[in-house]
Amino acid sequence: DEVTGQVGFHDEYAENFEDIAANIFAPIYPVISQQITNRCQIMSGTFIDVGSGPASLAIALSKLVDGKVYAMDFSEKMLAIAKKKIESCDLNENVIPIFGDIHDMPFDDCFAELVVSRGSLFFWQNVSLAFREIYRVLKPGGMAYIGGGFGTAQLKSKITQAMEKRDPAWSQCVEKRLNKTNLDSFKKALHVAEIDHYRIIDDESGFWICFNKVD
Ligand code: SAM
Repeated sequence: DEVTGQVGFHDEYAENFEDIAANIFAPIYPVISQQITNRCQIMSGTFIDVGSGPASLAIALSKLVDGKVYAMDFSEKMLAIAKKKIESCDLNENVIPIFGDIHDMPFDDCFAELVVSRGSLFFWQNVSLAFREIYRVLKPGGMAYIGGGFGTAQLKSKITQAMEKRDPAWSQCVEKRLNKTNLDSFKKALHVAEIDHYRIIDDESGFWICFNKVD
């Protein structure tokens, strides 16, 4: 079925992405984590990184905050890679890998202070349902920081050069993800999820949707 097909795709993609995340994308995660803490001003509590892949963002974020960071993904292969990395960084107490689909997250209502996600929403089947789930698991006053990007223009240009060597169509694909239709479809998804107060950041740090759960 459709869902199994998706898992298969992401499992296959996992090994390639492990290499990319470790060798090309590595410098972006500490920068993005710093931007997240600066912009959200949430430094302690419970954190979830959704569609965390090899857990690079979860690991970088855990170094800046007090509390546990759950690294959730629906690819068993990605989770296996994440587990290895978490262990090698000696962060078993701080970063918890967990299997879960964004459309039906394995967390109670009002569970987390901050939900973050990078580079995953472009793959979600039902973005409004996903936003609703994120809202559900947030504590009142909690925040979501969801999007994609490379942190700075300089990092983006370095990564573009390295990625274009591997795949000449890479930038075209990245730009396509952020075209106007997509922007409008994200706004529509927020509206359907009844999230009317949000902020869209679209600058050299990337494209990020931020919203609060109202108290
Ligand atoms: N966030 C990581 C990073 O920035 O390095 C990984 C990004 S990778 C491009 C996208 C990830 O989203 C993959 O690990 C994939 O398995 C995950 N993903 C896609 N759809 C998902 C869903 N519905 N539920 C959970 N994870 C999902």
